[in-house]
Amino acid sequence: MKQIPNTLSAVQDHTRVFGDLAYVYPVISRRSRGLSIGINLNPDKKCNFDCVYCEVDRRTPGLAARVDLEQLKDELRWLIRFARDGELGKRPKFNEVPDLTRSIRDLAFSGDGEPTMVSNFDACVRAVIEIRELEKLRDAKLVLITDAAGLDKATVKAGLALMDQNNGEIWGKLDAGTPEYFRQVNRSTIPFERILKNLLETSRVRPIVIQSLFLKIHGQAISEGELAAYCERLNAILRDGGKICEVHAYTIARPTPEAWATRLETVELNTIAQTIRNKTGLSVEVFD
Ligand code: SF4
Repeated sequence: MKQIPNTLSAVQDHTRVFGDLAYVYPVISRRSRGLSIGINLNPDKKCNFDCVYCEVDRRTPGLAARVDLEQLKDELRWLIRFARDGELGKRPKFNEVPDLTRSIRDLAFSGDGEPTMVSNFDACVRAVIEIRELEKLRDAKLVLITDAAGLDKATVKAGLALMDQNNGEIWGKLDAGTPEYFRQVNRSTIPFERILKNLLETSRVRPIVIQSLFLKIHGQAISEGELAAYCERLNAILRDGGKICEVHAYTIARPTPEAWATRLETVELNTIAQTIRNKTGLSVEVFD
C-alpha cells in the first residue's frame, strides 16, 4: 500500500486537542495508513520516560489525572460519527485529505503520556471496545502505543487480553540496545532490563510491533556498536520465544524541545533499517 506523504499538515500536526474534547483526537497517521482516533488516557501528561524527542508540550500544565470513562465514551462516539459523516474532512488540515477521513483505521491508546500508567487500564479498554461494537467498527484495530514500562501490571495484562479478542495490536517502544543509550535517549529511571523483559513476556503471548525512533544527538546518529546491540536485543526476544510481527523504524517528524535532537536523513534511516533486516531477518517498515 502507498505511504501517506509526511508533508501533509494533517500528518505534521499531531496535536491532541480537537475542539473541547478531553480524551479523544483525530490524526492522519502514516503508521496507521489513514485516520487514527487517538485516545488520550494521560491528559495529566504523566510519563515514566522523558524522551529527548518527545513532542508533548510540557510547558503548559496537564489536566486532571482521572479518566472519566463516561465522558470518554461520549466523546469517542461523537468523533466517530463526525468523521464518518464527512464533517472531519471539512476541517482545516483534514480537508487536504478528505478521502482519508471517513474510514477509521484504528483506535489508538496514545496521547500526552504513557497509557499504561493509568490505574484502570482494563476498564479503559473495555469502554473503548463497547463503543467500537456499538458503532460496528469491527475492522478498526485497537492499538496500544507504549513505552513498555507498564506491560507487567495486572490491570494492563487484563486490558491486553481484551485487546487480543478485539483486533488488538501492541506497538512497544525500543530505541536502544544498551542501558547507557536508553538513559541518554529515553531518560528514564526505569531499568532497561525491565523494558526488555516486558517486551519479551508480552510478545510471548501475542506477536507485537516494535517501534523504534532513530535520531541524531548533537549531530551523531546511533553508532554501529549501539545498533548491533539493539539488533541483538531483538534477536534475544525471538530466541526466547517472543514474536515480533514487524519493526517500525522512524525518525523525528515534528519539532522537539531539545534543539540538539534532530532527524535523520532518509538515506541514513534506510541504511539502519537494512542493517536491522540483515541482522534479525525481521520485516522493517520505514517512516522517514
Ligand atoms: S514515551 Fe512517549 S510520551 Fe513518554 S516521553 Fe517518550 S515520547 Fe513522550
